[in-house]
Amino acid sequence: MTTATSRPLHEITLLSAAERLKGRPKLCSDCGICSSSYRPLLPQVCVFVENKSEQIERKLHGRNRNDGDELLFGISRSIHVIRMAKQNPEAQWSGIVTALGALLLERGMVDGVITTATVPGTHHAPLPILARTPAEVIASARNKPCLSPNLDVLDQVRESGVRRLAFIGTSCQVHALRAIQDQLDLEKLYVIGIPCTDNVAYPDMLRFLKVASKSPETIVHHEFMQDFRVWMRHEDGHIEKVNYVDLDVSALGGERGIFPAACLSCFDYQNTLTDITIGYLAAPLPPTERWQWTMVRTEVGEELFSVIRPFLEFGTFTQRGNRLVGISEYVRMLKRPRGRPPFPIRALIAWMQRNRGPRGMEFARSVIEMKLLRNLQYVRDEHSRMEPRIVPCHVYRALAQYAQVYEEEFGRPLYNGQRPTTNTAV
Ligand SMILES: Cc1cc2nc3c(=O)[nH]c(=O)nc-3n(C[C@H](O)[C@H](O)[C@H](O)COP(=O)(O)OP(=O)(O)OC[C@H]3O[C@@H](n4cnc5c(N)ncnc54)[C@H](O)[C@@H]3O)c2cc1C
Ligand code: SF4
Ligand code: SF4
Repeated sequence: MTTATSRPLHEITLLSAAERLKGRPKLCSDCGICSSSYRPLLPQVCVFVENKSEQIERKLHGRNRNDGDELLFGISRSIHVIRMAKQNPEAQWSGIVTALGALLLERGMVDGVITTATVPGTHHAPLPILARTPAEVIASARNKPCLSPNLDVLDQVRESGVRRLAFIGTSCQVHALRAIQDQLDLEKLYVIGIPCTDNVAYPDMLRFLKVASKSPETIVHHEFMQDFRVWMRHEDGHIEKVNYVDLDVSALGGERGIFPAACLSCFDYQNTLTDITIGYLAAPLPPTERWQWTMVRTEVGEELFSVIRPFLEFGTFTQRGNRLVGISEYVRMLKRPRGRPPFPIRALIAWMQRNRGPRGMEFARSVIEMKLLRNLQYVRDEHSRMEPRIVPCHVYRALAQYAQVYEEEFGRPLYNGQRPTTNTAV
């Protein structure tokens, strides 16, 4: 029988999760290592075999995260609210990521960029490529919000003799890339990250769009916005907006019915092992202004930021609300899930979220904390023996303020074993 690994990439990304992850360990996000010739390195590099993020962090920064925002956002030298002065209307936001990748090629700083194009004939199916021209990188703009085996392209990198490389990808990919980096015989590697959470296999993304939209086939772009709504842009340019609270997750089999086990066991939303991470989570509203935020993490990241800086406009961080009460309530809901409320209640919740809910930096903190809590609980429920290997220490430190409510609800401590301590310079 044909296995997923013997298929070309444009076919692999169309497969169902069950088909493409067949023969893999229980937790696999199809980062691309196992369909490449680097598969024998799986035990050393896979984030779901052993999460080495704290070890890699020490190598990159000489220390682990300090208490406070670093626990949620990762270590960075500077963070900024930014957008392209000349925006790319085809991009996911303002197009900073692809503009940066293209500039690196244009300036001769790299010979190739691993980026994610689209499978021909589809709007959203990912096709990882080794782009050799600025135009190819720009053409890969926009999210293809599905599992994408980007590290498979490392074989093409080696075969084509590319030794100065930029990689654009998600945190599970970046973990494996950092773990393998010294064995790749590269002269230079630039790691550009996008944040990532709740990714899905392509057929499951189509299922989601069917539930969320009145016209799923015509959607060309969608995003989970910071105003608690999904915005879906259609071929004719109109934007359909659906409140998070109105999404009928039960029609998808619940979160555990649609998200791969790996994405529910992922603890690096903000892609913290990159040189630079570019996302939107803490950026100010409204989304139509396309503000983004970036975390410049390393010296190499500063080099990258200086390349894109002349093409940027700078904004200011905003902040509103206090997440503590809402997140404590979320812990209670994790233990005792409530059904979907009737429409009038949902309308009230949506209004409250939009008008009273956390904004800016506080919104980013709240979303990351919710995902950490949800995923920790998922690992405990479904893969408890793996917890010591795949949940990094900083997760417990980040969630320390919810330890009491967690213990009250779940009848067990938030920490496994010894309470983790502040982890500073090593
Ligand atoms: C599944 C997914 C979930 C995300 N969730 C969040 C989030 O919760 N919060 C947040 O702040 N940001 C999130 N992002 C990132 C965000 O949506 C934008 O991609 C980012 O802000 C860059 O926007 P841009 O306009 O600069 O990118 P563009 O210039 O449009 O470039 C987008 C880049 O993303 C790459 N890409 C597209 N699809 C994939 C994929 N499946 N796997 C790997 N790389 C891909 C492309 O190669 C391209 O280089 C997510 C991205 C993805 C793919
Ligand atoms: S996540 Fe990557 S390294 Fe881990 S099993 Fe899947 S393809 Fe292999
Ligand atoms: S949610 Fe995590 S595991 Fe899933 S694709 Fe994104 S970075 Fe990888």
